[in-house]
Amino acid sequence: MVDDPRSELRKIVVELRANLEVQRQLGLECVDVAWPQGPAPARRMTLDEVRQELGECTRCKLHRHRTKIVFGVGDSKARLVFVGEAPGADEDAQGEPFVGRAGQLLTKIIGAMGMRREDVYICNIIKCRPPNNRTPETDEVLACQPFLLKQLQAIGPHFICALGGPATQTLLQTKEAISRLRGKFYDFHGIPLLATYHPAFLLRNPHEKKTVWEDMKLLMREMQKSGDVSS
Ligand code: URA
Repeated sequence: MVDDPRSELRKIVVELRANLEVQRQLGLECVDVAWPQGPAPARRMTLDEVRQELGECTRCKLHRHRTKIVFGVGDSKARLVFVGEAPGADEDAQGEPFVGRAGQLLTKIIGAMGMRREDVYICNIIKCRPPNNRTPETDEVLACQPFLLKQLQAIGPHFICALGGPATQTLLQTKEAISRLRGKFYDFHGIPLLATYHPAFLLRNPHEKKTVWEDMKLLMREMQKSGDVSS
């Protein structure tokens, strides 16, 4: 029996940190952490509760430069959730995901699928803008990961669409390139997850729009089969 659980936990954290530092000096670049396994919590948190728990987050270094936390937007009971990479400048200023140029393209894609932004839920793997829109770093992704998972648990979507490499690699815990991952369904804790290119990539490579449209048609077919959109 532990006398003082808090001090015991503190000791474990200190030891873990020291151990990781040694590993880092030995060349370890990242730690693969599995999504929490095991039985679901007795009661799912609501999205509002998850947002409350996130608070004015300072769990990673990104809080220092952000203007607003970009939690997520859309239907709290959406059948389909889009997960992107990280807020950019427009999102950081407005506190809403996918509102810049890439976001406008995503909104068009959702429209072409016969839905509106309000019908789906949109979020990112991290909630604060990285400086100069650089790719999220491992510690930042890990700090945000529990909140992304709780968000997804709260919504309980029937489908997830991962946008681009970092989002797909984080959700599927893989380092495989998005060019190889896209266009296929994967299992994310029992939820079918389709990977596709990120809309920002499409802005730079417009010829790939038809590839993404093929992926979206595949997603729509599966959603129709399960009655999640009308045909
Ligand atoms: N790109 C993303 O991945 N997410 C946003 O919210 C905006 C641009």
